[in-house]
Order: sequence, then structure tokens, then C-alpha cells
Amino acid sequence: MPSVLDPRLRRALAERMRYYHELGIYDFYRREPQSHEADRRLAIALEAVESSAIQPELREEMSPRKSAAVAAVAEDNSFEVLTPRPEQTVADPAAALKLIREDLGDCTRCKLHKQGRKQIVFGVGNPKAELIFVGEGPGADEDAQGEPFVGRAGQLLNNMIKAMGLEREEIYIANVVKCRPPGNRTPERDECDTCSPFLMRQIAVIKPRVVVALGAVAAKNLLAINAPMSELRGRFYDFMPAGARSGDPSWQGARLAVTYHPAFLLRDPRQKGEAWKDLQMVMKYLGLKSPQKSE
Ligand code: URA
Repeated sequence: MPSVLDPRLRRALAERMRYYHELGIYDFYRREPQSHEADRRLAIALEAVESSAIQPELREEMSPRKSAAVAAVAEDNSFEVLTPRPEQTVADPAAALKLIREDLGDCTRCKLHKQGRKQIVFGVGNPKAELIFVGEGPGADEDAQGEPFVGRAGQLLNNMIKAMGLEREEIYIANVVKCRPPGNRTPERDECDTCSPFLMRQIAVIKPRVVVALGAVAAKNLLAINAPMSELRGRFYDFMPAGARSGDPSWQGARLAVTYHPAFLLRDPRQKGEAWKDLQMVMKYLGLKSPQKSE
């Protein structure tokens, strides 16, 4: 690496360090000596990181130059991780979730913290859940109560959970962003990119069998695929949260299904049958049966 860092490089490096810290990664070492060619490739890569590629797998499209540069970073492996995330030091998922919550703190990492949020809505439910539902972001009711899906969309989600033969307490519910976007607007790219590492860490400690993405925003952020709902639904995806340990013998990732967001179903109830098909696919995989309706 050059002895005097270009200010843009320094900024990009600082940004990347911030990203790693948010993932709970704190210590790094630099492999020495680096060749001039490695320096050059790292500089190009950091430039790409600065402009867009903090988390390359979440990007819709990258130019060949950028993706080559990002690949160069991975290949160079210039920053190697020595210490685990705080939650990796505990075996109990409830304690691990607590550590992630502590790490999140009174978060001011993105602009949502100063756009009228009352509180952070971390997530709720069983730390050992087999099933996680992921929504978009808290609305007014969730912001007021500090719990995801407690408003009208939440009532419908509760009914969907019941129809699957489950109780809300048995599963886990979270959102891509943990602060209410003003006026319930769709969370923006930078907000999702800043917040989703925490969601990934939550999923990684819960180790569910299935994750259900509620709506296109959740699907896009979890899967890094930018496709319409019609293409996303109707199948399972293999899902390993970004930053999780792929070599973990106790969990090889989850299956991920995409279905309509309950708020969309409230606006267009004709699609409920389609959503029910998605949930039946999940139920079949989890061995769940619908409760018998009593007379
Ligand atoms: N919509 C969401 O996406 N999440 C909530 O928590 C509530 C409504």
C-alpha cells in the first residue's frame, strides 16, 4: 500500500472498516510485503468500494471493472479476520441476540435515526425459531410499540402464522431496517445496506430452517436479486446470511421463500390465495399441518 494514502483511498478504507465493525469484526492484519501490482489492484478495488461496493453481493449490477476490482480484493485477502463477532463468543442464541442488540446500541449509522423514529425495532420471537419472517421496516404502530408487525399488516401476519399451525411466539420476526422510514416510505438503498448486516447476524445466530421474505424489499435485500415478485415467488432459495460462517457444522444455511407482504395483501386481498400457496410450500418443508377448523 502506498505510504501516503490518497484521501479518497483513506475514505474508502475508513468506510470499509466501518462496515466490518458493523458486522462485529474488529481486528485485521495486513499481509506484507505487497507487490506494486497488488497495491494497484487494491487501490482500484477500494475505489470501487468507495463508490458502491461495500457489500458486493447486495448490488444489483456491477460494471466489469468494478466486479473485477471487488474480486481482486477477495483474491488479495488483504484484510484477514482474527477476532469473531461478539455474539460468536456465546453458544446461547438468546444471549447472542442480546449482544447484537447491544452492538446496535442507540444506532445513528444511517439517516433514519434523525427522521422521526421513536425507537429501534430490533426483532421479536423465539431465539431458536425454525422459521423467520422478514419484512421491510417498522410502520407507525411498530415504531410506537418497539415490536415488528403489530399494526394492521401485523394482524394479517398473525392470521397467516396461525393458519400455518404456529404461534407468533414460536417464530422470529424482523425487518430489513430497524427504524421507521418517514411516512412509511420504502427504505432506501443506503439505509438497507447499513442495517441489513444486523439482520444477517440475527439470522446467523437463530439458525432457522426457513426464512420467509415478505415482499420485494425483503427479498431483494436477502437474496441480492432485483426481480419482480412474480419471478421471485414459488420456489425455495438456498440462503446463507452474508458474513455467516459457511463452515459451521451445526447449520448449513436456511431455505428462503418469498411471498407477498401482508400490507400488499390488505390492499389486494385477491392475492391471498397465492400467498397461501407460498406458505403451504413452507409448511410442507417444515412438516406443519393447518389446524382443523372447529365447528
Ligand atoms: N411492515 C413491515 O414491513 N414491517 C413491520 O414491522 C410492519 C409493517
